[in-house]
Amino acid sequence: MRLILLGPPGAGKGTQAQRLVEKYGIPQLSTGDMLRAAVKAGAPIGLKAKAIMDSGSLVPDEIVVDIIAQRVEQPDARRGFILDGFPRTVAQAEALDKILAEKNHKLEAAIELEVDAEKLVDRIIRRAEEHKAAGEPARKDDDPAVFKTRLDAYRRDTAAVTPYYQAKGILHRVDGMASIDSVANAIDAIVERLERV
Ligand code: AMP
Repeated sequence: MRLILLGPPGAGKGTQAQRLVEKYGIPQLSTGDMLRAAVKAGAPIGLKAKAIMDSGSLVPDEIVVDIIAQRVEQPDARRGFILDGFPRTVAQAEALDKILAEKNHKLEAAIELEVDAEKLVDRIIRRAEEHKAAGEPARKDDDPAVFKTRLDAYRRDTAAVTPYYQAKGILHRVDGMASIDSVANAIDAIVERLERV
């Protein structure tokens, strides 16, 4: 099963991806997590990406495409994966198609979590507070001002990814403003339908 979770930052993609990991035993491929790990490790990619990520802008396509091309080669991703935060541009979506076509693999679905962008800022403030309460450092890009830049990047570059998958006939939409469990149930219903085909 190869799935993509789409939606703006703060829509709940990471939360739903983690649940799908547990349910289906396939990995979550989050370019954001991988970039943060590279920053933490002081890896060359991390050094390049850090300032861009802190500002809320998108890192260059070739960096994230390279990361994903290598990641899908790992043995744990052979049976499938859940992409979270990638692709974020149409160029990334096209690059992903190429990577998968070379392996004769196909994407089963792109599931968009539809959310009210205005309400996301509150969600993100809450996420920062939760991190703090858990004694974890808050993400720099969860600062409300930076978050607005991330939403702008979504509207400018990433919103076009949804029609890309719609045109391919694999787009599904769920109400991302519903409770975590309701969103999870809606996603499960989509996945179960796909598995029956
Ligand atoms: P995320 O955790 O998915 O919200 O990603 C955090 C940050 O990492 C984003 O704001 C971008 O700066 C960068 N990033 C993650 N994934 C991508 C991507 N697919 N394309 C470009 N930048 C990305």
